[in-house]
Amino acid sequence: MEKTSKRVVIVGIPGVGKTTVVTKLEEMLKTAEVKTNYVVFGTVMFEEAQKIGVKRRDDMRKLPVKTQRKLQEKAATSITKRKADVVLVDTHLFINTKEGYYPGLPHNILTALSPTNLVLVQAEASEILARRQKDATRNRDMVSLEAIERDLMVARSMLAASAVISGAAMQIVNNAEGKADQAAKAIFDAIH
Ligand code: ATP
Ligand code: MG
Repeated sequence: MEKTSKRVVIVGIPGVGKTTVVTKLEEMLKTAEVKTNYVVFGTVMFEEAQKIGVKRRDDMRKLPVKTQRKLQEKAATSITKRKADVVLVDTHLFINTKEGYYPGLPHNILTALSPTNLVLVQAEASEILARRQKDATRNRDMVSLEAIERDLMVARSMLAASAVISGAAMQIVNNAEGKADQAAKAIFDAIH
């Protein structure tokens, strides 16, 4: 591990498997005795949202964009206070709102987080659809395969834009069916 600490921002569309992959990555880093701090951006944001009466995590994306923006800023400020060799931030590049794609990492949030590495987790649209359908722990929006394909494309362009703005290295990792370990290892090898 290099001396400088890393701030690794992991993104990908809902249900692609970010949390699954990052949980495995965290275990690998801890086994390698790398001081790691793992934070789910949405969880920190939800803690802030609960203070204004939001009851369910999946209701946050239905709030007015202005409110979501305030909550994002509060979450980013809280996350930048975390110190470790590797800070892993599990978040979204965009949220589907009625106004359109709302960036999860607009310029101000990206600048505040100042990532060293940006990692996009992706999978086949059909796999993502099946994962959303299987996952009973969340209130997921169900959309068509075509809409998922479009979201995957938007994700790649937003990733590139985020890399240019932040100067972070960008990596695209495939989270193939049953192979979340391999996806985690690819990120581990890139940052370790
Ligand atoms: P969100 O953005 O909504 O938080 P996420 O990207 O974090 O979603 P997960 O919650 O990690 O997605 O995964 C969604 C579902 O897909 C879970 O049920 C998980 O067990 C399953 N899953 C994740 N990765 C794989 C994989 N490689 N193979 C099969 N199933 C997977
Ligand atoms: Mg998740």
